[in-house]
Amino acid sequence: MIGSDPKIEETSAAAYTIPTDAPEADGTFAWDSTTLIVVKLHCEKYTGVGYTYSHMTAAPLARELMKKHVEGQNPYNTNVLFSNMRKAQRNYGRDGVAATALSAIDVALWDLRAKLMGKPLCQVLGQMRDGAPVYGSGGFTTYSDKQLRNQLGGWASDGIPRVKMKVGTHPEDDLRRVKVARDAVGDSTELFVDANGAYSRKQALWFAERFVSEYRVSWFEEPVSSDDLAGLRLLRNRAPAGMDIAAGEYGWTAMYLRNMIEAESVDVIQADATRCGGVTGFMDAAALADAHPLPLSAHCGPSVHLHLACAARPLRHVEYFHDHQRIESMLFDGFRKPTDGVMYPDLARPGMGIEFKSADAEKYRDDI
Ligand SMILES: [Mg+2]
Repeated sequence: MIGSDPKIEETSAAAYTIPTDAPEADGTFAWDSTTLIVVKLHCEKYTGVGYTYSHMTAAPLARELMKKHVEGQNPYNTNVLFSNMRKAQRNYGRDGVAATALSAIDVALWDLRAKLMGKPLCQVLGQMRDGAPVYGSGGFTTYSDKQLRNQLGGWASDGIPRVKMKVGTHPEDDLRRVKVARDAVGDSTELFVDANGAYSRKQALWFAERFVSEYRVSWFEEPVSSDDLAGLRLLRNRAPAGMDIAAGEYGWTAMYLRNMIEAESVDVIQADATRCGGVTGFMDAAALADAHPLPLSAHCGPSVHLHLACAARPLRHVEYFHDHQRIESMLFDGFRKPTDGVMYPDLARPGMGIEFKSADAEKYRDDI
């Protein structure tokens, strides 16, 4: 197909708001629904699909970006299209909702490009590994002890060797909840915590020492706000051996991630292709991690990260987030469940290997 100059003929973007299966909260936010934005690009007989989790206004924003910068263009020119869209966002701000709209479009461009080539996306990017190791992620602070035990213990008994829970909503309850989790998953499962920036610096340090010494927690995500790079660095330097400090999920651009890495704020850099610029932005993040060097962990959206994780050179794992795996298994044909803690791409399916079930999703569609 290369050289035949295909053109993107038609584009669309829609928002779907899906209720959670139970009230969910972390250390700094609570929610009862999640909004999925799905982008489609049509070219010849192929449809490129991309998605993000964002505010519903990302859908009209994506439609406008595609009308002006994607329709009529050659889908192989991903760098040109990415750069033109980024430039167009200067005056209303490139971060946040704008970055998620751009990310969903870029993912759809790469999915389309791989489908035009008749290859799975991981092979188009250059495959590094057969599968993507995952960690089970949930353990919301709204959960009862029973819900916490069932969810985390369920992942452990499914063969996922690492799980993550939320902390920070009620700090006085956190040591007790972490004990419930450790007892549920047993000694051989790695236990991670995510405070979503809820603790103060010294409070986080106090918890870091106890989480390690009492419950062998090996990953402490956003112990303080990700905006507090000096605070993250304090934790990184003073947390006990055996505990990694991780952050990066709000990285909207490669420069954000570079600043976080250069401030020596994290042991593991996280990146999210549905926020940091799609496939283009995620592979930039992988190159940054490779160059410093730091391990990279993919944040949420397991279906989009499966192929990227199989291609990125530095990669520790992909977050198998309860909310997102539930939505993606309902609405994406071709969703891949992990086997013994590893997701494997279906190499017989071109692109990302997923198709959006529009008819099933129709009842969740937002009028925007
Ligand atoms: Mg997090």
